This record gives sequence, structure tokens and C-alpha cells, in this order.
Amino acid sequence: MKSVCVFLGSSSGNHPAYMHATDALGRELARRGITCVYGGSRTGLMNRLAESVLEAKGEVVGVTVQALKDKEEFHRGLTRLHVVPTMHERKTLMIELADAFIALPGGIGTYDEFFEVYTLRQLGFHSKPCGLLDVNGFYEPLKLMLGMAEREGFMKQPYREAITVSSDPSDILDLMAEQSRDRLAAG
Ligand code: AMP
Repeated sequence: MKSVCVFLGSSSGNHPAYMHATDALGRELARRGITCVYGGSRTGLMNRLAESVLEAKGEVVGVTVQALKDKEEFHRGLTRLHVVPTMHERKTLMIELADAFIALPGGIGTYDEFFEVYTLRQLGFHSKPCGLLDVNGFYEPLKLMLGMAEREGFMKQPYREAITVSSDPSDILDLMAEQSRDRLAAG
């Protein structure tokens, strides 16, 4: 697993646990020599992630859209910043650049990005690991929703179970690295 794309809030959230977990994931990515791909912004948890990887001497690749310049303020100190024309191209490039995907807490932008990679995996467009870093029980309601979808016959169990969930940054990277190895071994 050489690169991981992280989806997370452009805001910081109300609880310090979100910043702490973001920081810990950033440091762990750098320590493992895994390139961090993210949305390129200089606000909220997104900024904290980039800063923590860079502080630990890791590599960060941002992917953003010109039209977001005023809203999200681009991070200018990244290893590389791709500025693409549309939101769709942004997601497509993020997906291409990464070997796995992790969502931290965030708002609807984060859910959109995570569900894009999750649904593409369900449809077989890729087989890269998808995970939720469940800080402070933030993703409990989403897990309940997916359980409901399965119980009510809208989703098959293997797809619901295809997501890796952990509250610990190091643990989630271990689990996803193992899946990546299995995936490469299977060809
Ligand atoms: P949020 O979780 O709402 O703070 O947003 C996190 C990131 O998701 C930000 O960089 C947003 O620009 C991005 N985002 C918001 N809406 C979309 C969308 N429809 N497609 C792709 N990314 C989005």
C-alpha cells in the first residue's frame, strides 16, 4: 500500500478528538512511508492532516478544483497540488492516485467522496480497500443505516462487510495493508 486517500472535514468539528485522530493518522502515514492523497485544502481537519504528514516528513498530494479557491483556500506547501477543472475530475484523480481510502469524520462532502469509492467498489470498478476511522463513535449512525439496508433487503452482506472500521489509526492501516496484500496476491 503506497498511497492512501483520506476524505475528511473541511471544518474541525466540535470535539478535540477529531483533530487528535487526524494528527495521529497523518503521523502514522508518514512513519510508514505511505503517500497521503487528500482534497488539497487549508481548512479544518483537512489542513491538520496535511500539516501532520508534512511535519513528520511524509508526502502529501492534494487534488482540488480552481473554483474552490476562495471557499477552501489551497494548501501551498504540499509535495504536489493538482488543480483540476471539475469536482468529478477531482474525485476521479483521487481514486486513481490511491491504493486505499479512509474517511474520517466530516460533513456531506466527506460522505459524498466516501460513498463514491464504496459504491464503485460494490459495482466492481475497483477493488481497493475502503475504511472508516470511527473517532468518538461518529460513524455509528452510518453503520446502523447500512445494517438497516441489509436487513431490509437493499444491500448484500458481503458489501456491507467490505468496509474496514476501526477507531485506531494504526489499526486501520494494518487491516487495510493486509487487504491490499491479499488483493495484489489475487491478481
Ligand atoms: P465536508 O466534509 O463537507 O467539509 O467536505 C470535505 C471535502 O469534500 C471538501 O474538500 C469539499 O470540497 C469536498 N466535497 C464537497 N462536495 C463534494 C462533491 N459533491 N464531490 C466531491 N467532493 C466534494
